[in-house]
Amino acid sequence: GGFQSMGLSYPVFKGIMKKGYKVPTPIQRKTIPVILDGKDVVAMARTGSGKTACFLLPMFERLKTHSAQTGARALILSPTRELALQTLKFTKEVCVGLGRGGRMEDQFAALHENPDIIIATPGRLVHVAVEMNLKLQSVEYVVFDEADRLFEMGFAEQLQEIIARLPGGHHWGLTEPVLIRLDVDTKLNEQLKTSF
Ligand code: AMP
Repeated sequence: GGFQSMGLSYPVFKGIMKKGYKVPTPIQRKTIPVILDGKDVVAMARTGSGKTACFLLPMFERLKTHSAQTGARALILSPTRELALQTLKFTKEVCVGLGRGGRMEDQFAALHENPDIIIATPGRLVHVAVEMNLKLQSVEYVVFDEADRLFEMGFAEQLQEIIARLPGGHHWGLTEPVLIRLDVDTKLNEQLKTSF
């Protein structure tokens, strides 16, 4: 099973090939089809196991569908600015080829003014949301990247504020999340048992 047998469209597949990914990692193989199926997923794997593609590739597929709404459609929350920038870099690398064409500079400018995707740390996003009265009512796809670190770093309150601005208020998540664990050590397994 390569990337093409996982239900990804040709443009997204091409983008990932351009990035040099030939074979999906185990966590990618497990999560991508489930997310493409529209399920909410809580996934755990070791650092460096390829989690970025797990949430970005299904997100690109989702954004290819039409939306009658205006406003951002995807929200990625990262614990640090560094991680947010890494996610942005991946998005630009794979996503630029997915647009309708035109100069790359114009596409980035458009992205800047009326973004489809918001990648932010919770603290900064809450600040911007309050300052600019940012609406998150059109968001359909939410990622809590490195969720354990988001909470360890004390973002719980900001996360609540953000979730409250999403459609459906505090009741985010339409389905019972599918829990996918991979290569998790015993200590982490114990933590998970008590968290879920
Ligand atoms: P990540 O956990 O997403 O930060 O990925 C860790 C590293 O593995 C990064 O350098 C990725 O570019 C690389 N990587 C992720 N998925 C794949 C894949 N399917 N094939 C080759 N490299 C990958």
